[in-house]
Amino acid sequence: MTIASTNPATGETIQTFHPHSDAQIEEKLEKAARAQAAWRRTSFAERAQKLQQVSASIDKSKDALGRLMTLEMGKLRKAAIGELEKCAWACRYYAENAERFLADEPVQTDAKRSLKKHQPLGVVLAVMPWNFPFWQVFRFAAPALMAGNAGVLKHASNVPQCALAIEELLQNAGLPFHTLLIGAERVQKVVEDQRIAAATLTGSEGAGRSLGTIAGKQLKKMVLELGGSDPFIVLPSADLDKAVATAVTARVQNAGQSCIAAKRFIVHERIAREFEKRFVQATSALRGPLASKQVLDDVDKQVRRSIEQGAKVACGGKRLDRPGFFYAPTVLTGEVEKTAAWREEVFGPVAPVTSARDLDHAIALANDTPFGLGAAAFTTDPKEQDRLADELQAGMVFINGMVKSDPRLPFGGIKASGHGRELSVEGIREFTNTKAVWIG
Ligand code: NAP
Repeated sequence: MTIASTNPATGETIQTFHPHSDAQIEEKLEKAARAQAAWRRTSFAERAQKLQQVSASIDKSKDALGRLMTLEMGKLRKAAIGELEKCAWACRYYAENAERFLADEPVQTDAKRSLKKHQPLGVVLAVMPWNFPFWQVFRFAAPALMAGNAGVLKHASNVPQCALAIEELLQNAGLPFHTLLIGAERVQKVVEDQRIAAATLTGSEGAGRSLGTIAGKQLKKMVLELGGSDPFIVLPSADLDKAVATAVTARVQNAGQSCIAAKRFIVHERIAREFEKRFVQATSALRGPLASKQVLDDVDKQVRRSIEQGAKVACGGKRLDRPGFFYAPTVLTGEVEKTAAWREEVFGPVAPVTSARDLDHAIALANDTPFGLGAAAFTTDPKEQDRLADELQAGMVFINGMVKSDPRLPFGGIKASGHGRELSVEGIREFTNTKAVWIG
């Protein structure tokens, strides 16, 4: 795959980049390994000061950094600014909390003194996707660096300018972090390099299986944040206005290209017709380009297949007749449960809606998926809320709100959505060695 910036609003390729040579990669890995050996001995205060510096730099250059995202993957300006503010927040959050999260923990045993220590693993490789080009990287980098690791980034091939800007931001603050401009086919060699201690990949199920196989063979620690097909359940006690407005945002934010977008809508049969009417009205009013021709083609094919498999088009269902990579926001109804739109992850503004007889049926429909990332449900009944929180098979359950990432809460999935956690205390401990120490 070429490494290039292509404007999704026009389809025009703006700049193509030479992939890094083997010699350049060797130099970056060597630098990262050497820097990490010194970095692991720095104090939390020193690391925190550098992360705070990054946070301030992001805040200062939000407009310019945001423009890179708009240019390379079509993110709307307001969303780009919001994403950068969240990156600055994650840097501050880990600068303020890492020392507490990783403090030695005394344990009573038969020893004179025994404790748990949390120590860095070394150089961590991050393979990242384009959909949140800054946030995906920072939610890995801020905790990993605060824990005393070095970072090496292989970003998606369509966001090289974002990848280089992130490297510059972190290196300017004196942090051990390098960007490799390489295609997916060169990831294996990097994972196999003995200087790489662990790897994390955020991306599709296929990419996760591939990296998982390579890292597994090398017996290297890995975190996999993969795709999802999150259910969005609406029950009769819900505030319907709020549920509809949230459903629309949860499906079409980032033009539908979010792992935690709501992707399957399950509405109690008593309110299904009213929900559908309002949902279709609000969804069909929206516009925004998809990130690439590939994403546009994939979404269109999945919708075509779903129609052949029995789905009815309530709105959209086609490309927009204009330059760039635009797809009409689409709501599918009818027999959607056996269609591609329901069974697979659709990375675009496509919403299949079905109805459920009762809470049991809604939970069964929600869990009938290979994925297990997030799940959202709307109900004001506390008993229903507890059952949903207990029984939905997902890494994250949000009741009366859409699924979102927050540095204070762990983020990640189960089943084909991957394993391991990012953010919160769990996220910073993923790339540490929890060492048992026993002193007699
Ligand atoms: P992708 O095609 O899987 O690419 C993600 C990254 O993996 C890119 O850097 C890509 O490089 C690389 N890659 C692809 N195939 C690889 C392989 N066989 N071996 C090693 N690296 C490989 O995914 P995407 O289209 O960029 O992003 C969309 C997917 O990411 C969706 O499935 C979405 O749900 C998922 N996602 C998950 C989360 C989460 O936290 N769970 C968050 C965001 C997105 P190239 O660009 O060079 O191909």
